[in-house]
Amino acid sequence: MFRISENQTVYSMSKDNPPVLTVPSGSQIEFETADALGGQIKTAEDRLDSLDWSRINPATGSVYVEGAEPGDILAVKIEKIEVPDFGVMVAGSGMGVSGSVLDGSYTKIIPIKDNMAIFSDNIHIPLNKMIGVIGTAPKGEPIGCGVPDLHGGNMDCKEITEGATVFLPVNVPGALLALGDLHAVMADGEICVTGVEVSGKVIVTVEVLKNQTLPLPMIMSDTHVMTLASDEDLDKAVDMASLNMITYLKDICDFSAHEAAMLISLVGDVRICQVVDPKKTARVEINKKYIFSKN
Ligand code: CA
Repeated sequence: MFRISENQTVYSMSKDNPPVLTVPSGSQIEFETADALGGQIKTAEDRLDSLDWSRINPATGSVYVEGAEPGDILAVKIEKIEVPDFGVMVAGSGMGVSGSVLDGSYTKIIPIKDNMAIFSDNIHIPLNKMIGVIGTAPKGEPIGCGVPDLHGGNMDCKEITEGATVFLPVNVPGALLALGDLHAVMADGEICVTGVEVSGKVIVTVEVLKNQTLPLPMIMSDTHVMTLASDEDLDKAVDMASLNMITYLKDICDFSAHEAAMLISLVGDVRICQVVDPKKTARVEINKKYIFSKN
């Protein structure tokens, strides 16, 4: 298995990022990742005001996947996510949806034990370990790791978890995959701007798909197909994710446009990934049993 350490960090997804690892399609890679705050908060006394903002939102990479050419698709299967025994949350004035009602800044260390996040003595939350940032290099200008877009990036989608496969565009030779920003727990929305932010390790298998067209980015889990879209305007993100699902059902599953629209209206749930990043991310989820059993 190939490995990359958390010291091999990028702060933007860029065609100019030098690859730190080159692998053949089909490879398994272990990424060691720093948390979204760059590991700068270790105790409840560490405050946001003391942070070096140039170290926020690191991702580990970039990985050059041999044979990946513009127009291909990179499939990234999430095999395993390991998290440490604590995570960090921050909230405060001006941050996220809750920033308008909070004064000052707050830090909370969340112990993690027996697959539970210990929010308080009485509130123990089952982990839903996920990858916040995962993307390939865009064709044009670099995109900061804090921003989600067509290339993936900071989608903060809780379905990017063990067992899921993320489909990303290949815009430049080698794709230049990078990922990071693990969360031990996060709900749809992420309204205070953080989940339980953790460092950790992620094992993925990468595969280059040739001669396929998908409305990207997409996620496939054991049970569901998901389309995702990001925009400054959440309404637009919802529309784009929905139209992408219609495209998928038409082009890949052979539905007519109106049948696709009707079916999504019945069994395609529109969900919010996050509403706190520079672009907000929505997804549409549809159970595979409805679309792969059509004929
Ligand atoms: Ca994030």
